[in-house]
Amino acid sequence: MSPATRIINPATEQVIAEVPIGGVEETDEAVARALAAGPAWQAVAPADRARLMRRFAAQVEEHAEELAQLETANVGKPIAESRDEVGMVAEVLYFYAGAVDKHRGATVPVSGGVDMTFHEPLGVVGAIIPWNFPVAITSWKVGPALATGNTIVVKPAEITPLSAVRLAELALDAGLPEGVLQVVTGKGSVVGTRLAEHPDVAKIAFTGSTEVGREVMARASGTIKRVTLELGGKSASVVFADADLAKAAASAPGGVFSNGGQDCCARSRILVQRSVLDEFLDLLADAVLAWTVGDPTDPDSKMGPMVTAAHRGVVAGFLDEGMGAPGGPVSAHTTGAVPDGPGFWYPPTVVAPADPDWRMAREEIFGPIVAVIPFEDEADAVRLANDTPFGLSGSIWTRDSARSLRMARAIHAGNLSVNSNSSVRVQTSFGGMKQSGFGRELGLEALSSYSEVKNVFVSTVD
Ligand code: NAP
Ligand code: MG
Repeated sequence: MSPATRIINPATEQVIAEVPIGGVEETDEAVARALAAGPAWQAVAPADRARLMRRFAAQVEEHAEELAQLETANVGKPIAESRDEVGMVAEVLYFYAGAVDKHRGATVPVSGGVDMTFHEPLGVVGAIIPWNFPVAITSWKVGPALATGNTIVVKPAEITPLSAVRLAELALDAGLPEGVLQVVTGKGSVVGTRLAEHPDVAKIAFTGSTEVGREVMARASGTIKRVTLELGGKSASVVFADADLAKAAASAPGGVFSNGGQDCCARSRILVQRSVLDEFLDLLADAVLAWTVGDPTDPDSKMGPMVTAAHRGVVAGFLDEGMGAPGGPVSAHTTGAVPDGPGFWYPPTVVAPADPDWRMAREEIFGPIVAVIPFEDEADAVRLANDTPFGLSGSIWTRDSARSLRMARAIHAGNLSVNSNSSVRVQTSFGGMKQSGFGRELGLEALSSYSEVKNVFVSTVD
């Protein structure tokens, strides 16, 4: 028997599957198959490639409930969220199926001939996936990679591989040729490292922590690989005194505690204009106490457990002594309730007013803890929002539309929303500024991350 990773349900602490631990050999074999599958995949007529991708999407729709249950069992996320995320996977595949024959080149006016451009595939893409949105983030890379004629090897997070493994089976069932989409399970330090260094991998599409992203980028430099990085965040939701405070407060738990705060877009800092701080905190406390934590298979649960016991320990550590607060541990303004019994539970927690210099207000916690920080005026809000090495997402709550646009232009982040906490849509680009990474996923923008412009000049001079 080859060694296997035991996959644990974080809500029950039960082992639900065993998955092979792939090594360098398995990775190299997968890359060789992907390389060999490339020419035939690129030769598939565009309309037929689109048809295959639509069949893949239809397979996902047919198996949507199975995939959602798998995701909830493996990640501990509420079933309602898993269903939405699997729905998004099908939408992503349909969207990029539709893009296959619309990703046009250009002709360029030049003298002495005709100049044209082609969007050429890169070759073999290595996709490295985090544990927080396993199936959705896999599709964000698979959709545009396949649409532009690449083949792809996916390395899921070691602890949450089940939905990606199933997705690859569904692709084969849909008729995608062998080798076009493969999954290698195993450790990031082995499989991920090998993909990043492999000479036959043309691009690494990485989503995960800034720390690992930095290492992946360094390793990929050996072969001048294309790299896109979707990394961490410390996003701010900025609430002005003129906002609909009730709506901003009611929406706030969803903006930071969804997926247990294990979300790169979590608005883990709420900046509130000082004149309405007390009023906002009262409204927020009510909303947080109504944010039900419990059995993720219950459609009414808003939040499940943390993904592992170890991760729960990391999250809890952000309120411990020495986390930057003067004079001892950081104390909570509001703490929600969690179930008894097995499961890696951690309550939704509001720290207010938090000092912007505390570690819990500066570092990505990746758990359900939010720092509420007062500000004085618009300039102060911009300064605080940008006082972070990250730049992924954020929200602006105000009834003044000119101010909302000034703020949206002034905040250095890739995805902002006004009077909303929504960050991700199939049709719109998604990605970070500063140390939240570079490159854009989703939308038509992603196509350029998986293809290369080739310029061809044809002389018409006799
Ligand atoms: P992580 O520890 O960086 O791991 C991400 C992936 O990289 C996993 O598949 C991991 O494999 C692999 N990996 C680990 N070490 C590696 C190495 N040396 N070389 C190559 N690959 C390696 O991140 P995570 O803990 O799974 O996810 C949480 C982080 O992801 C947070 O920082 C979050 O903000 C970020 N995130 C960003 C976005 C975005 O779109 N911006 C979306 C979701 C999450 P193992 O699991 O085997 O270690
Ligand atoms: Mg990790």
